[in-house]
Amino acid sequence: MEKEKIYSAVEEYCRRMGVDRAQWRPRAALIDMDGTLIDSMAAHSLAWKRLSDELGLDARRDEFYLYEGMTGRATIRLLYKRAKGYEPADSECDELYSRKTSYFNEMPKVPAIPGAARMLGLLIERNITRVLVTGSKQLSNLDRLDSDFPWAFPHDKRITATDVSNGKPHPEPYLKGMALAQVTPVESLVIENAPLGVESGRASGAFVMAVTTGPIPGETLANAGADLVFSSMEELADALPLILPD
Ligand code: MG
Repeated sequence: MEKEKIYSAVEEYCRRMGVDRAQWRPRAALIDMDGTLIDSMAAHSLAWKRLSDELGLDARRDEFYLYEGMTGRATIRLLYKRAKGYEPADSECDELYSRKTSYFNEMPKVPAIPGAARMLGLLIERNITRVLVTGSKQLSNLDRLDSDFPWAFPHDKRITATDVSNGKPHPEPYLKGMALAQVTPVESLVIENAPLGVESGRASGAFVMAVTTGPIPGETLANAGADLVFSSMEELADALPLILPD
């Protein structure tokens, strides 16, 4: 992406947030997991589709890309409300979410997103605090962060579905991430791949860098409120040095 485009997005953000451009210094990066760090969305959509078919919920596989970022409970409530006109109790949602998780875990291990390790390396080098902010509570994926991206996410710097009352697109997950990193919204970058995650990041007041890693077009991410949309994580990593303080 051209330098000018990146600088003008930063200027526009600073204007919107009432921050002096010359003083703007991101101190923390709040980073989504599925579709951002690991290429897991195809497997998630298959697992959700299998569960929906078994329950007669009449869902399309590709619609799950749009629900990405919502908690498992919220997704199950949405599907039931639409197909059957009621929402199951939390305990039933949790049981169904475990079933979906086990379908996911039956599939081959998903690869890391190309460029994600380099992106994290650049943040570590420049002393930018990293916080994981995910709507997931799938332990198999959370555990592998330590092996795939060693040092990137200390265990006390993770917000998962169990830490929030409102999942994305509500700003709560990212606001809680900022609290963990002890930074303000204008000191925060959000790195996301999903429309609801972008909405959440935008509503939190952070500078939102979106990346397309699946079938959702970049335009949808821009419309959801991303400050910049990259066509790959490699491209996002290339842009980071222009945004971060030396
Ligand atoms: Mg995601």
